[in-house]
Formats: sequence, C-alpha cells, structure tokens
Amino acid sequence: MTSSGAILVLSGPSGAGKSSLIKRVSEVIGAHYFSISTTTRTIREGEKDGVDYYFVSIEEFEKDIEAEQFLEYALVHGNYYGTSVKPVKEALKAGKLVVFDIDVQGNMSVKNRFGDITTSVFITTPSLKELEHRLRLRGTDSEEIIQNRMQMAKREVQRISEYEFFIVNDDLEKAAKFLITIAKAARLKIPTSTINKFIIDWEN
Ligand code: 5GP
Repeated sequence: MTSSGAILVLSGPSGAGKSSLIKRVSEVIGAHYFSISTTTRTIREGEKDGVDYYFVSIEEFEKDIEAEQFLEYALVHGNYYGTSVKPVKEALKAGKLVVFDIDVQGNMSVKNRFGDITTSVFITTPSLKELEHRLRLRGTDSEEIIQNRMQMAKREVQRISEYEFFIVNDDLEKAAKFLITIAKAARLKIPTSTINKFIIDWEN
C-alpha cells in the first residue's frame, strides 16, 4: 500500500521543550512537513518570520478567517494562532507526515476533521515548578506573561487524556527516542477511505 500522508499533533505548555524535541526528531523521521502557524502575537527574540510563525496583524488574521484559509484556529493567551489549510493538504497529498505544534483546542479540531490519520501527543515538564523554572530561564516573557502561561498550562494538563500519547520531557534524549517511535508509527496510519477501498477490492 502506498503512503498517503498522516498527521502528528504535538501539544503541551509553552516551555515544555516541544521545539527542541521537534528539532531533534525532524532529523531522523524522514519526509515530513512541519506546519508553520500564523499568529498575531509579537515576535520573540531569536524568532524569524516565516520560520517559527507567520507573524501578522489582527486585521490580516481576521481577513484570513473570513476567507476560510484556516484548517483550525484558536485564541491562545489572548492572541490568535491558526493553521493554514493549503500547505497541509499539499503535504498530505505528497504522502508526507505533517507535524503540528498546536494547543488543546487545535488538537480537537484536527481530530474532528482528520481523526483517522492523526496521532496526538501531549508533552510536558515533570511539574508545574519545573515549567516555571524553564519559562524564567528562557527570559523572553514578562512576569505577567509567565503567570498567564502557567495558568494556561494548568488548564491544558487537565486535558492530557484527550491525547493518545503522553511524554514527560525530563530527559531530552529519552523523550526524543519515545517521540521518534511514535512518529514512525503515526506515518503508518491508513485513511478510512483507503481501508474501505481495500475491503471492496479484497472481496473481489
Ligand atoms: P507560543 O506563543 O509559545 O509560540 O505558543 C503558544 C501556544 O499556541 C502553544 O501551546 C502552541 O502549541 C499553540 N499554537 C501554536 N500554533 C498554533 C496553531 O496554529 N493553532 C493552535 N490551535 N494553537 C497553536
């Protein structure tokens, strides 16, 4: 059977080390497309427009909502974040594994639309204290934003059971190995339409 593309959703609090993990894993999981989201939040030091996110104004974002450009979008920490539908569809068509770094709301939207080819993973720190430590170490956010992110993290952690897998990122090497195994399996998911076609062909 030919590869028909699949989705790997990664969620977890900001500061849980998702980006570092994705970097590690992306070197070894083969052909994939990392979905670059669009956001209205301000750009952080070290980030690049078109690499980490497409940074746009609220007006531009709302225009894209109207034009139905987003596969899903959500308000996170008071900013808009969204996934554009076009590059995702193209990558899936090319048989790639599409990797999303999106929040719990986004996971639900993707699950509703592409449930049969989606694998979801929640990544977090060993504790709330450790998350606070990492956010402070990062040194990019104000006290208010750190408090905001921690409140948000508390709410997100309540929803871990909505995910198929759960990684506690206390050891980057171990966490990366675990995620590589999940990513390899994610690629093997087969769309319901392909299964149905197989059954008809198999009977004949
Ligand atoms: P940050 O501001 O730290 O880059 O991201 C904040 C949160 O927004 C993270 O939980 C991240 O997963 C989520 N996020 C980033 N892009 C998207 C997106 O396109 N859609 C949704 N629903 N959430 C996103």
